[in-house]
Amino acid sequence: MQRDDLIRRDLSAVWHPCTQMHDHETVPLTPIARGAGAWLIDVDGRRYLDAVSSWWTNLFGHAEPRIASAIAEQARTLEQVIFAGFTHASAVQLAERLLAVAPPGLARVFYADNGSAAVEVALKMSFHYWRNVGRGERRRFIALSGGYHGETLGALAVGDTGLYRDAYAPLLFERLLAPSPDAYEAEPGETPEQVALRRLDDLHALLERHADTVCAVIVEPLVQCAGQMRMHHPRYLTGLRALCDKFGVHLIADEIAVGFGRTGTLFACEQAPPAQPGGQAGITPDFLCLSKGITGGFLPFAAVLTTADVYAAFYDDYSTGKAFLHSHSYTGNPLACRAALATLEIFRDTPVLENNHALAARLAGRLAPLREHPHVADVRQTGLIAAVELVADKASRRPFPAYERRGLRARLDALSRGVVLRPLGDVIYAMPPYCVREEEIDLIAATIAHGVEAACR
Ligand SMILES: *Cc1c(COP(=O)(O)O)cnc(C)c1O
Repeated sequence: MQRDDLIRRDLSAVWHPCTQMHDHETVPLTPIARGAGAWLIDVDGRRYLDAVSSWWTNLFGHAEPRIASAIAEQARTLEQVIFAGFTHASAVQLAERLLAVAPPGLARVFYADNGSAAVEVALKMSFHYWRNVGRGERRRFIALSGGYHGETLGALAVGDTGLYRDAYAPLLFERLLAPSPDAYEAEPGETPEQVALRRLDDLHALLERHADTVCAVIVEPLVQCAGQMRMHHPRYLTGLRALCDKFGVHLIADEIAVGFGRTGTLFACEQAPPAQPGGQAGITPDFLCLSKGITGGFLPFAAVLTTADVYAAFYDDYSTGKAFLHSHSYTGNPLACRAALATLEIFRDTPVLENNHALAARLAGRLAPLREHPHVADVRQTGLIAAVELVADKASRRPFPAYERRGLRARLDALSRGVVLRPLGDVIYAMPPYCVREEEIDLIAATIAHGVEAACR
């Protein structure tokens, strides 16, 4: 299809996500024909560097041949099978491989087909666990301010990003909010670690009052992605695990965006420093939610990993009514399982994380000069997630009025220069696929710098 034809027909038949469709009267829709490595190629052959990994899903590049062939082979063998009463090799191997690479102590894998569904599963499983062990009065969840966990009603209920949530607020169950350990909100002179410790005190106070009615605390470890790429010190995770243990509530780690190497380790939970000197680094959540990168960005899929203890609370004679009866038609889809296996094989067979460290260091070096910019309040980075926060006034950190849509200007500027950026409000960020080369990192950084100028004019 030709560009104009494709766009016209799209705009008369399709409704796009996260979009005021009216915008497309002025903002062009970009019709993509194919992808190759870190690049998207439009119907006229124009190339765009995918600096946001197509909404944080893609890990090793578009149309990655190893994952593509694994899916093709699976498709010719078994494309889908009911996953209740039946099983298949790809689902079994994947569960084993996930448990082998996940934080120690996770023992069971429950599959779902998108991130929000994984969050729903974790919330329901935690609540149902407490019900099964005779603590049905536990029915609330503690979430962090600025958090995002997806857009189905349960996931929205534990989220705190107004843009996605406000319109539906009357439909959502109540949650308790603990203040985020976001390092951007440091008091003058306070280090990120001190912010984390102060916020742990706040959480302690909340748990002291409410733990008896709380099922779980849900957190996005290290980076609150949709909440404008706000980042926190890993000490928060160590303290959070200790508080959940102390008060006997579950910990749900939503690594849907940060999992699979984005933050520098395979999972962000690994970066929690030891509770005591000489102790074990890393924490194990009671529920680990994974999606997005799990299939390398090829297919919608998700997994919730949990402990033997949680599993045991559901395992009983049928007549006790304790089974976890959540189901999605495509649970354990063979194509998705096979894509996830191929993704884990790439991690196993190539030094992905080592390469990412070098790329992250280069990105940090190239973005550093932006700290001097009069409208840049913060340049922050965790692994291969880097963000530049724009403000109207640097001293007071007063934001630009939202209706000015400064970030959109940066996005359109980048698009005209052949780079895909999609700022969150006035936070311009990069989360590139791991196949980017150093020159492409430089191009991303230069485009962000140019976008900052375009946004602040
Ligand atoms: C994207 C995201 C989700 C939701 O995943 P979907 O597949 O879009 O439903 C949940 N939590 C976090 C942290 C995410 O970034």
